[in-house]
Amino acid sequence: MLLHDKFGRAITDLRISVTDRCNYKCVYCRTGNEGALYGDLPFADYLRIARVLVGMGIRKIRITGGEPLLRGGVVAFVRDLAKLRNVDGEPVELALTTNGHLLADLAQPLKEAGLNRVTVSMDAVDPDRFARITRVPNGYDNVLAGIRAARRAGLWPLKVNCVLMRGFNEDQIIPFGMFAREEGVTVRFIEFMPLEEDRTWSPSTVVTLDEILARMREYRPLVEIPHARSETARRYRFDDGVCEIGIIAPVSHPFCGHCSRIRITSDGKIRTCLFSVWDHNLHAQMQRGASDEELANFIRSVVQKKEERHHIGEPDFVPASRTMVHIGG
Ligand code: SAM
Repeated sequence: MLLHDKFGRAITDLRISVTDRCNYKCVYCRTGNEGALYGDLPFADYLRIARVLVGMGIRKIRITGGEPLLRGGVVAFVRDLAKLRNVDGEPVELALTTNGHLLADLAQPLKEAGLNRVTVSMDAVDPDRFARITRVPNGYDNVLAGIRAARRAGLWPLKVNCVLMRGFNEDQIIPFGMFAREEGVTVRFIEFMPLEEDRTWSPSTVVTLDEILARMREYRPLVEIPHARSETARRYRFDDGVCEIGIIAPVSHPFCGHCSRIRITSDGKIRTCLFSVWDHNLHAQMQRGASDEELANFIRSVVQKKEERHHIGEPDFVPASRTMVHIGG
């Protein structure tokens, strides 16, 4: 039986964090003092989880972290995932989210292993600003080389995700529009969510979808194009039809009603929502010797508890029990 939650949403997207470690300390994400908080599992365990879930209707798997390219063996893991077949007997769609720092050398091997697409996170197109945000010197050149290598390798379409924070990098909106046109990539702006280690979020720090459109209009207007219901991003093209810009607006335009995702943390917990206040210990079931069928039953019971929606900005908002880097975005 395919996986549905109690609101009738089909669960078809899985995100697996393969490490809690990250080589960047982005100021809107990390305190800069803390490292990894959670362990990770052998790849064989993630693969088993993925196999069970693909048998329950998962069609797309995104590998994430922490920073997934820090984990040795990630290419072989992709090769194993590429052998899975969905409930229709077709290959599973495989994507990876990375900060791009180590991508230049890994793009081609990842493509050859069966990865379909990559999303690179990048919050400024100015090298100095980029260094201030990531708290790592000289990262910008590495990431740009990673983006270009991914493009050459055919990891396509290539998405570049930029989280915007007021007073911080919203002046990068137009430069990112130019970057998208020059590099031929899809740039997606993401509204800042209260998922940071430092608890710096407030509604006023969010640069909203409407503001992004208005600011970009000063450069060139964007025209909306259709997007799939389950897609997180609203999609736009410039008025001359060139390149694609996406806006992911979970704060100003929530899309929880179409959510099709569950997540596995690096230490093998299921999270049914980014904003869950608890997680569910799937790995403990594996450790006590559960069969695949027992794992599937456990997953089914957990998915029944999937939250209807998030409560960002509402008086009853309770912060998630983990921050973004420790969930796997
Ligand atoms: N290291 C990888 C990367 O940089 O893409 C994967 C993990 S990172 C936590 C995943 C994504 O979450 C990145 O695009 C990052 O910018 C985004 N992110 C982190 N904190 C966020 C927040 N508070 N609100 C929105 N996005 C956030």
